[in-house]
Amino acid sequence: MTLNQTWMQRSLAHVWHPCTQMKDHEWLPLVPVKSAEGVWLEDFEGKRYLDAVSSWWTSIFGHRHPHIVMRLKEQLDRLDHVLLGGFTHEPAVVLAEKLCAIAPKGLTRCFYADNGSSAVEVALKISAHYWRNLGQPRKTKYISLTNAYHGETLGALAVGGTRLYRDAYAPLLMQPIQVPSPDCFDRAPGEAWEDHTRRRFRHMEEALERHAGEVAAVIVEPLVQCAGGMRMYHPIYLRLLREACSRHGVHLIADEIAVGFGRTGRMFACDWAGITPDLMCLSKGLTGGTLPLSAVLCGDTIYEAFYDDYASYKAFLHSHSFSGNPLGCAAALATLELFEQSDVHSANRRLAALMWGAMTGLSSHRNVIDIRQQGMILAVELAKNPRKREPYPAEERRGLRVYRHGLERGVLLRPLGNVVYLMPPYTITPEQIVTMCEAAIEGIEVATRD
Ligand SMILES: *Cc1c(COP(=O)(O)O)cnc(C)c1O
Repeated sequence: MTLNQTWMQRSLAHVWHPCTQMKDHEWLPLVPVKSAEGVWLEDFEGKRYLDAVSSWWTSIFGHRHPHIVMRLKEQLDRLDHVLLGGFTHEPAVVLAEKLCAIAPKGLTRCFYADNGSSAVEVALKISAHYWRNLGQPRKTKYISLTNAYHGETLGALAVGGTRLYRDAYAPLLMQPIQVPSPDCFDRAPGEAWEDHTRRRFRHMEEALERHAGEVAAVIVEPLVQCAGGMRMYHPIYLRLLREACSRHGVHLIADEIAVGFGRTGRMFACDWAGITPDLMCLSKGLTGGTLPLSAVLCGDTIYEAFYDDYASYKAFLHSHSFSGNPLGCAAALATLELFEQSDVHSANRRLAALMWGAMTGLSSHRNVIDIRQQGMILAVELAKNPRKREPYPAEERRGLRVYRHGLERGVLLRPLGNVVYLMPPYTITPEQIVTMCEAAIEGIEVATRD
């Protein structure tokens, strides 16, 4: 047995892998990774894979970035962990200061959790608790978008709209008020993105008019519904939503877990609309993909609604053992330093243009229905019959064929159903973009051949 096979077998004997039908691995090899550097993952036999999905969108500056590694080692030599209740530490303080400084204006408080789903739970709880503290205990519902994804814990899953992840747990979940997503994939032929997005906003306005008295918050993924297949919409939606939420007395929660930290071309996706949400969830790229950490930012108005004598029982008594873990915070600070050291966003504009240039030829492909891009996210949607807007049936697993071809070619692509997307680390070079795009284009060719 080869080393790769040994690790695969040992893994399959005891590790229950996430987001996986384990039976697939009877015929689909697991990829054991021994080490990583930059955009590359390396297995136990020296084969390398270009990580075109930044390991689930986390590794924004590539793997083991020397600056982040250095800061992490320094931190490990000083303080590994300490509870954040009653105690504090330098990385948590400085990170909170810096996040509030770069976040949309007015976000002044930072609550730490340790993964994206937990951050969403925190935001949902803070919102409803805020209204309760203000004497409006009826405001306990949430408005969310169809096709949304906010994580896998029960609260986060409840406000998600992806049936694949949600259906099995439907009886366990609170019922959000679901509003059609502004997703511009659905726009009429020839319709401008902005017009479609505005038209879709009417559903949101109606839902707010009807339900504001019982709604705590609206939760959205700004600009890109990532897990929902990299579906995108125009920033005007966020402007209209901000205005409507304020008018109706409902919080706006921006789930920037996937799109924050430069992914869409600005530091935060909300920046494209120039809005400040009431609550903003951050994770994934926050630590440059090195450690799990998340943060929820809010403004003084929310914070002060919890600030009272102990006996008022208004405090937010939520905690995680690893809230604000010093190593995670140090990695996040190192990541922010990388943004300070160079103009990441303009460098990304050039890389994004190269990605577009390499992929745009696919627009005439017989099975490509849409190519879309927002900053460092590029998605190609495949369809059985684009003219009739007829998708490939999910059980044909066309995306999986792209995945397998990618692995053969040494590129980690991990399509979402029929959507092949590129979301590489910002440290990718122009030559590596060529390699990545060639593998994706070939994979699409192989996957659509019948
Ligand atoms: C990944 C993701 C989450 C969940 O984060 P986890 O760390 O995987 O729990 C929530 N919201 C969005 C938009 C995400 O992409």
